[in-house]
Amino acid sequence: MMYYSEQTIIWFNGEFVKAAEAKIDLYSQSLHYGYSVFEGIRSYPVGDGTKMFKAKEHYDRLRRSAELMQMPFTLTTEQMTELTYEVLRRNNFTDAYIRPIILCSPNMSLSKGKQSYLAIEAWEWTNGYMSNQMRIMTSTYRRPNANAFHVEAKVSGHYVNSILACQEAKDNGYDEALVLDSDGYVAESSGANIFYENNGVLYTAPKGNILPGITRATVMELCDELNIPVQEKLFTPTEMRGADAGFFCGTAAEVVALQSLDDVPFKKNWEDSLSYVIQQAYKCKVMEKPFEMEKKVA
Ligand code: PMP
Repeated sequence: MMYYSEQTIIWFNGEFVKAAEAKIDLYSQSLHYGYSVFEGIRSYPVGDGTKMFKAKEHYDRLRRSAELMQMPFTLTTEQMTELTYEVLRRNNFTDAYIRPIILCSPNMSLSKGKQSYLAIEAWEWTNGYMSNQMRIMTSTYRRPNANAFHVEAKVSGHYVNSILACQEAKDNGYDEALVLDSDGYVAESSGANIFYENNGVLYTAPKGNILPGITRATVMELCDELNIPVQEKLFTPTEMRGADAGFFCGTAAEVVALQSLDDVPFKKNWEDSLSYVIQQAYKCKVMEKPFEMEKKVA
């Protein structure tokens, strides 16, 4: 996958530069310790233009992640939103994935960041991040303990755990991992939140041991609009295995169907599930298209 070409423009430490020419310092705290915070945002073709989905929520979370990491950072959500639209415009991108990251200056000590700066990278989005109908396995890796990390922050270092879990699943012939929290309850996947459906109700892990996703919040809003019951609760993989349906959700994944967990298939035909209704409604929401009423469930 080519993320950038010789022509690609990014925002980097106060200016628009060519991605191929930007350099980060080898003595950066971010590089050595995973001490950087980032976001993943999607932009979609909406009407005649380009619109980022929930830009405010993403940039508010980025600022909150920096604050939790005690990184000095002063740009506002509005300033970062404007800069991002300019990056998209300069590259002529509409359907894109945007990766803003706050990096810290050279510092080999374990003290808090002394200086930080923002980079905004983007690339064109051609197809889905995950295949449809995923086969997933319960990972032997657990999510980071909430007493050891600010799990609600999107910090680069947390993703070493995600790489281990995702790679383990792939090495075992699965598409993705289901990762448990340190108490053995279902938390999330390596890069998405998770829901399962049983007897007309959707269930998802509560906040506390997960990255509380913006897509997860959107799914809950859609459930509310469509009168689909949804509950946050702690549950084990045993409860989820063989349920009616299940899906991952995240900015990149959007809403992606699960075919099986630990080789036990979900029972319903995907297209007959409420989860499918949510998938269709989500697609409409990001494109700002009305969701047809007849697809609503009573
Ligand atoms: N959990 C993890 C670990 C993630 O990396 C992501 C992707 N950002 C999510 C959940 C979903 O979050 P969002 O819906 O905000 O993209």
